[in-house]
Amino acid sequence: MSSITLKSPAKINLYLRVLNKRKDGFHNIETIFERINLFDTIKLKKNALNEIRFFCEHPDVPKNNSNLCFKAANLLKKEFSIDKGVDITLIKRIPVAAGLGGGSSNAAFVLMGLNNLWHLRLSKKILLRLAKELGSDVAFFVSQKSFAVGRGRGERIFCLSGIKPLWHILVVPYQRLSTPRVYHKLNLKLTKNKVNVNILIHALKKNSASLLSKLVMNDLEEAASKCLPGLLSIKEKLKGLGVRSPAISGSGSAIFSLVNSRKEAQLLIKRLKNKLAADFFAVKTY
Ligand code: ATP
Repeated sequence: MSSITLKSPAKINLYLRVLNKRKDGFHNIETIFERINLFDTIKLKKNALNEIRFFCEHPDVPKNNSNLCFKAANLLKKEFSIDKGVDITLIKRIPVAAGLGGGSSNAAFVLMGLNNLWHLRLSKKILLRLAKELGSDVAFFVSQKSFAVGRGRGERIFCLSGIKPLWHILVVPYQRLSTPRVYHKLNLKLTKNKVNVNILIHALKKNSASLLSKLVMNDLEEAASKCLPGLLSIKEKLKGLGVRSPAISGSGSAIFSLVNSRKEAQLLIKRLKNKLAADFFAVKTY
């Protein structure tokens, strides 16, 4: 096997509560991740150069060694003294800096893909440890589960099972948001969410979209709106157009809403297109 091609999925956060700020500057959060069927494609091809080379044509993806694909491959090379090279080609479809975890997913799939391509035989436990070094959301994608609770910075993963797939519309404004900037604007005194994560998990297990819609929440919404004032007006417009409980994913700017079926998602998107400056996707739990 000299090359492999991988599908690298996005995520949304159905629930994101910020608990406190830590001494290291990060925040402790409690979140529910849902993996969705919106994918980047990653091709890993062995090269004879003992080098990591990265190729991507998307203008918003960094091409240098700050790219998370490069960082993941480099971490494996350093940690296990590997004298092999790889060409990584990324086809980016997940909107960048939208709270959809694209970079983290790419890092997770490069780790798992190179584990196979380079015959490293690393256990899930080791992959999870490496994932945590690369970023807060990487461990969720390494867990390869559809739903999970994330604690700590989001990297302590508790998998959830027995949940039926959900349908959503995803509305991604053309303006994007930087996660550190959003956390910088966060005023913890103003986050007064009272919904307990267990109530949401209960609603997920009951597969009740209407109950779930009432419970989705994100403590970063106010801070994200400070960074991107248009975000609130998009949310209000969506509500006015009949979209049920729109909420931001991660630190934004993507907004999602729960719907009952693919058909409902497609009809809703048809109605919303041309009314808002955004990209639209009908997505399902993956
Ligand atoms: P975060 O993990 O910070 O919450 P996000 O989910 O909002 O991020 P990403 O698409 O992962 O958004 O991009 C965040 C930033 O990471 C981008 O601005 C980009 O500069 C950088 N980045 C590094 N590697 C990648 C990658 N492979 N794909 C996308 N962005 C990347």
